[in-house]
Amino acid sequence: MSTTCDAARLTIDLDALAKNWRSLAMRVAPAACGAVVKADAYGLGIAHAAPALWKAGARTFFVALLAEGLALRAVLPEATIYVLGGLLPGTAATYPAARLRPVLGSPAEVADWAALCAAHGTDCPAALHVDTGMNRLGLSTEEAVALAAAGAGFTPALLMSHLACADTPDHPLTAIQRALFAAVAAAFPGVPASLANSAGCLGGRDLHFDLARPGIALYGGVAVAGQPPLQPVVRLEVPVIQLRRGVPGDSVGYGAAERLKRASRIAILSFGYADGFLRAAGSSDDRPGAQAILAGRRCPLVGRVSMDLTAVDVTDLPEDAVARGDMAVILGDGIGVDDLAAHAGTIGYEILTSLGPRYRRLYLGG
Ligand SMILES: *Cc1c(COP(=O)(O)O)cnc(C)c1O
Repeated sequence: MSTTCDAARLTIDLDALAKNWRSLAMRVAPAACGAVVKADAYGLGIAHAAPALWKAGARTFFVALLAEGLALRAVLPEATIYVLGGLLPGTAATYPAARLRPVLGSPAEVADWAALCAAHGTDCPAALHVDTGMNRLGLSTEEAVALAAAGAGFTPALLMSHLACADTPDHPLTAIQRALFAAVAAAFPGVPASLANSAGCLGGRDLHFDLARPGIALYGGVAVAGQPPLQPVVRLEVPVIQLRRGVPGDSVGYGAAERLKRASRIAILSFGYADGFLRAAGSSDDRPGAQAILAGRRCPLVGRVSMDLTAVDVTDLPEDAVARGDMAVILGDGIGVDDLAAHAGTIGYEILTSLGPRYRRLYLGG
């Protein structure tokens, strides 16, 4: 396979994304299923991913930042959009103007929103975030219950909390968080409740409440340790720009971190850490690195990942199996984002959100 462009190629399968959403929506029904599209839809491109999710049936979307919410509003005029990061001082008026909903996570944010609702003379929709064990964002359960009793100054459109450990089956914190959240939800009768991330969607019914908020599982990442991912969504192919030979004792790449143990053939790929191919995925004498598929076979990286270049040992392939201009598969054909992540000491989320700006992006379906 050759290419008419020297850039690596990232293929994003929007039909697989839609299929993954429908599969999660079926799993959590009768709860509704939203979609988390923060960080540019986990690096895949929100302008393409969000309309595909909308077409599949998603109506409620979650982003991290106000700026992301504004960008998403331009793409999806009718969607319900929540901004997870909540309110920074001075930003409240931007929300109703773009029909965005903040996720309020502290008494100060709640007070800002109540003032805005009073000024508008009507309830502007917002979510309340309750902390049940993450200790990141959210009102304490005591603050939330007190607010339910005293009145927030507006009726929340959604009550939510976030699971810290649902990716680990049977982690005791999940049941504790669920029980705390259920108790707070009981203090807000009639307000829809949302607890489940991807791992929560794949967990028990008692985690689903009224609205699920999957992210990583939509994009083909592993959500629960030990469970296979849904359909892969990304495929990354990178051109071979040189084939070289080395003799035993030669070193490859910066730091001479790996020495060849045999007469070797090396393929040089045109991508590196500037493309988000994490340096930690490289190989050394002490530790094997990630793999690339060439001529249908998995071949090991050799030496460190450079900014724009990565070397692969193709000695075990037949002579002439690989030619200059061929494409090596980095993600796809059985190498999932979590497989690559494992070689780089990270998680699929970081592999996806690191996908760089130099790739030529192709969107399939949608
Ligand atoms: C990112 C995020 C999610 C989605 O989590 P996944 O593990 O990717 O499914 C859901 N809720 C909140 C509050 C988040 O920050």
